[in-house]
Amino acid sequence: MKRIVVLGAGFGGLEATLELERAFRHQPGSEILLVSEQNYFLFTPLLPQIASSYINPRHIVQPVRDIRGRRRFDFRRDDVRAIDAAGRRVALASGALEYDHLVVALGSRTDYFGIPGAREHTWDFKSLEDAVVLRERILDICEHADHVADPAVRRQMLTFVVVGGGYTGVELVSEMHDFLFHYVAERYRGIPRADIRLVVLEAAPEILRGVHPKLAQHAAKRLRVEGIEIRLGAKVTRCFPDGIEINGSEIISAETLIWTAGVRAHPLVEALPGPHDRIGRVLVNERLQLEGHPEIFVVGDSAAAASAKDAPRVAPVAIAQGKLAARNIAHRERGEPLEGYQYISQGALVSLGMNYAVVDLAGLKFSGYFAWLFWNAVHLYKLVGLKKQLQVAMDWSLAAIFPRDASIVRRPRRCKLCGTDEAS
Ligand SMILES: Cc1cc2nc3c(=O)[nH]c(=O)nc-3n(C[C@H](O)[C@H](O)[C@H](O)COP(=O)(O)OP(=O)(O)OC[C@H]3O[C@@H](n4cnc5c(N)ncnc54)[C@H](O)[C@@H]3O)c2cc1C
Repeated sequence: MKRIVVLGAGFGGLEATLELERAFRHQPGSEILLVSEQNYFLFTPLLPQIASSYINPRHIVQPVRDIRGRRRFDFRRDDVRAIDAAGRRVALASGALEYDHLVVALGSRTDYFGIPGAREHTWDFKSLEDAVVLRERILDICEHADHVADPAVRRQMLTFVVVGGGYTGVELVSEMHDFLFHYVAERYRGIPRADIRLVVLEAAPEILRGVHPKLAQHAAKRLRVEGIEIRLGAKVTRCFPDGIEINGSEIISAETLIWTAGVRAHPLVEALPGPHDRIGRVLVNERLQLEGHPEIFVVGDSAAAASAKDAPRVAPVAIAQGKLAARNIAHRERGEPLEGYQYISQGALVSLGMNYAVVDLAGLKFSGYFAWLFWNAVHLYKLVGLKKQLQVAMDWSLAAIFPRDASIVRRPRRCKLCGTDEAS
């Protein structure tokens, strides 16, 4: 019995598993096993809408067993601790697992570039838990600010700094803007609109790199019109519990710093043998195989493919690579020539909050309300499973009629006023 193991049930790993299932449907002599630390698939593009209380966190995750349905692949929720390429084994929390073929799709982690205080004093925004925790942080700080008499203190509490002007930072700040100005400012009577400040810090000379420059400029203009400060060429040099230093001199006082700026490969990927790029992704050949280990395929955020080193770290790339890795495993088993990966850009869609988006797709560039409707339609279509599609569509519809749900249901973390920060 040949065992094919896929590590990670994100975009790349899930697609690889589903394609393996198709390719090996009529080969009972093979076993397909998907291993992931969570028992669900997370649809990351909608994470900013969790932070802004727009949609329910459960609606953007799909249990792997529900996705599996009647398919025959096995799933194990487990933590991968090590990959022994030479021994063709992976070490899981529950024990060792041998494989004949391995697909590594472990994603990426946040990189703080060694900036002093960044890891300790910023809020990460990568996982479902991060988004839920950030939502509670925003609500918690608003609850406190609501009855602070000193305007200077209140303004500092209501200053939110998003580090990183990429897709994630821009979509997140847009969502936060909607929530703070259209919900909080209308219901928290002690919070004047003028005291809410949203700042995006971007070290590069423009935001939204990868989007057509005209659309990126248009997006920046739109955010500024909404009152969001966009600081370009703003390199973060230090983070504090109550502020952030840029370019080694200027300090912005803020109690909530959110980090969306840097990404590094997963530590297990950095530990794989062979060459790696500057952000720790392993260099694989155009067929997505690890050097010296043709039985190991690496995909998605973990991989720098020889034929597409500059491909962005986005879901469509992970999906295409996951599919290709699965097909190449099938080709190897059948003694057929393997296929090479070519990056084909699928364009860019960026939501700038309620009723506005920019779209750069197949030569078409447009922005505004119809772009926003298009953004919604595409993301709804891409969500896995009819139930989730209906739930998110319902969340969006209800939000057009009723206020968002601003209940804090867990004790907020890292709050000195609630006594939950490390110092208290
Ligand atoms: C906030 C946010 C918003 C984004 N928005 C967009 C967007 O709008 N459009 C877009 O195209 N891309 C977006 N992305 C990027 C996109 O999510 C990634 O490029 C994509 O998820 C990469 O797929 P992957 O399969 O490589 O990794 P992931 O999808 O991250 O999957 C990695 C999997 O590995 C599992 N795993 C990790 N470590 C272990 C371990 N030790 N043991 C077991 N399992 C483990 C994880 O739980 C996860 O299931 C966004 C990312 C974030 C964080």
